[in-house]
Amino acid sequence: MSAAAGQGRPGFPRHAEALDALGARGRRRALMPRAGRDFSSNDYLGLAASDLLRDAAREALNRGVAVGSGGSRLLRGNAAEHEALEREAAAFFGAEAALYMGGGFPGNVALFAALPMQGDLVLHDALVHASAHDGMKMGRAECRAFAHNDAGAARDALRAWRAEGGRGRAWIACESLYSMEGDLAPLDALADVAAEDGAVLVVDEAHATGLYGERGQGLAHGLDASVDLVTLHTCGKALGAVGGLVCGDEVLVDTLVNRARNFVFSTAPSPLDAAIVRAALTIVASRPDLREAAWTNIRRAHAAASRFGAFDTQILPILIGEDPEAVALAQALQARGHDVRAIRPPTVPRGTARLRVSITPNVTGEEIDALFADLQDLRRAAA
Ligand code: PMP
Repeated sequence: MSAAAGQGRPGFPRHAEALDALGARGRRRALMPRAGRDFSSNDYLGLAASDLLRDAAREALNRGVAVGSGGSRLLRGNAAEHEALEREAAAFFGAEAALYMGGGFPGNVALFAALPMQGDLVLHDALVHASAHDGMKMGRAECRAFAHNDAGAARDALRAWRAEGGRGRAWIACESLYSMEGDLAPLDALADVAAEDGAVLVVDEAHATGLYGERGQGLAHGLDASVDLVTLHTCGKALGAVGGLVCGDEVLVDTLVNRARNFVFSTAPSPLDAAIVRAALTIVASRPDLREAAWTNIRRAHAAASRFGAFDTQILPILIGEDPEAVALAQALQARGHDVRAIRPPTVPRGTARLRVSITPNVTGEEIDALFADLQDLRRAAA
């Protein structure tokens, strides 16, 4: 399509049309400012805006840590802070080695694109995160899904692949705690499936790191030691900072350093961020009281929300169904001062739009009670 001379530039009418079409289906998204009390962040330990981490950032700047890395890790961008963080993270999470990436998203992309090899199978839970899917699309292995949290289905799928002649390594991928369901994976059962086949278990601990495990190491920590394990820990949730840590055997981290395109060809994360994550790991390991405060709120929310379902974790999805209803309810709650967000397809399956309520120490017990009282009130009015 070309614009007639003199009429100015053509602009992007097809993009505008596509956005309008999303809008007509109630799916157009827009950035919005924070509105009210925090019932939607992943700041599960309340560290993101805490003095603890702000002081750590100032201390790092005072000892001369750089803001920018200046290049890729394989060139001049590799800083002492990155390496120190990776040593400390590997020790904390119980792995041989760790690699710090700019986010959990690029961490998953690197992992799934570069580790499974030609002839391998990636067998993944049907609900794994978009970043895992993007990595899988770039990788060389065949990928198959198994029904959410169904270890029996994973076993059947793996046996079927072997029966069809699959000879490579299998990589069983799951999250330990699902972001939009708020439920926990059957990690022991999945580890058994992995052990039977000699498969690798890949666990995305994005929503578990910091909040679960004896010192916040996550839910995969201490799993069957006879299974090869790779874990992903995000630093932008309970750790209150930014980044992603891929943890596993030295040979795997070395493979990422050599083969993951988004590691090799990307500017290294900020050394300052690495320093802040180091401090966050120390805080998380040494401050069980932060976890206790978080769990006090989480238990209060479970009690206050019991009429909306049975919940196990800090993430309480309130299933609504249709997109416009979910959006309207979120807006009504926001108008009452609760920052709750609606989650719609494609983030969740069609017809399962929901409110995703997350519980952090950034709110009080009374504020938690008030949220669920208002929710009940609004649901009753809408019925
Ligand atoms: N994995 C899961 C399960 C996630 O929920 C997210 C982020 N929402 C990511 C990975 C990506 O992590 P990050 O936000 O650090 O890029």
